[in-house]
Amino acid sequence: FLSGKRALVTGSTSGIGLAIARALAAEGAQLVLNGFGDADAIAQLQKELGADFVAADLTTTAGVEELMAGAGPVDILINNAGMQYVSPIQDFPAAKWDAIIALNLSAAFHTSRLAIPHMREAGWGRIIATASAHSLVASPFKSAYVAAKHGIAGLTKVLALECATDGITANCISPGYVWTPLVENQIPDTMKSRGMSREDVIDKVLLAQQPTKQFVQPEEIAAMAVFLCRDEARNINGANYTIDGGWTVE
Ligand code: NAD
Repeated sequence: FLSGKRALVTGSTSGIGLAIARALAAEGAQLVLNGFGDADAIAQLQKELGADFVAADLTTTAGVEELMAGAGPVDILINNAGMQYVSPIQDFPAAKWDAIIALNLSAAFHTSRLAIPHMREAGWGRIIATASAHSLVASPFKSAYVAAKHGIAGLTKVLALECATDGITANCISPGYVWTPLVENQIPDTMKSRGMSREDVIDKVLLAQQPTKQFVQPEEIAAMAVFLCRDEARNINGANYTIDGGWTVE
C-alpha cells in the first residue's frame, strides 16, 4: 500500500531502523537508507531492498542537510538513528552529551524542517520517531539519552500540531529494551557503573524493567511503524506508543 511513497529511515543499517526499512520496503515504499557500517553489507542491503543509501553523519547540522539533499523529497520520515552512553553524571563526558543530544534529538528537528515542505505540497506525510520508554521515565546513568528522548517526545507533539491540517501526522514509538547492538554495547558500562556481572545486568537491570521478562523484537516496532503509515491511522497524531512489555505502566 506504500508504492509511490519514498521513505527515509535514519540509522537503518542496523537494529530497529533496519527492521523498519525492510517492513516499509515490503509494502512497496522506495527506501532511502542511512547509517554506518560495512560497505559490502550496505551494498548488499541496498540490492535486497532496491534502496538508495546516503552515508551522512547526523551528529552535525551539515550532515543532516547532506542527508536530506541526497535523499530528495520524502513522504515518510523515520527519525530513528540514535546512540546511548552510560555513566554517572559527574563522569559523563561533555562531548558525549553533545553528540547524543545532536543525534537523538537535534537531527530529528533538522530532518523534519527539511522534509515538511514537500509533505505539505503533497498533502500527505508521516513523521515517526523511534523514541524510547526513556521518553516517559528515567533510569540512572543515562542523562543525555533520557533528556534527548523526552525532548523528541516534545518535538513530536509540536510537529503534530503544526502539521495537523496538512495530511501529515507525527508520532513516537517508544520501545522498552529491544535486543540490538545498542543494548548489547551498553552492558559493559552498566556492569562498571553498577558493579554487576553481565548476567545480572541482563536480568536485574534490563529485563527487570519489562514485566513480560522478554526483549522486544525489532520487527514488532516495524509493524507499528507500518500501521502508522496506513490511511486508517490518519487521525493518530501526536501519540507516543509504548512497546515495552508494560515497563511504563503506572
Ligand atoms: P543500533 O545501534 O542497532 O542502530 C543504530 C543505527 O544508527 C545504526 O544504523 C547506526 O549506524 C546509526 N547511527 C549511529 N550513529 C549515527 C550517526 N552519527 N549518524 C547516522 N547514523 C548513525 O540501535 P537500535 O537499538 O536499533 O536503535 C535505534 C533507535 O531505537 C535509537 O534511536 C534508539 O535510541 C532507539 N531505541 C532502542 C532501544 C533498544 O532497546 N534497542 C529501546 C528504545 C529505543
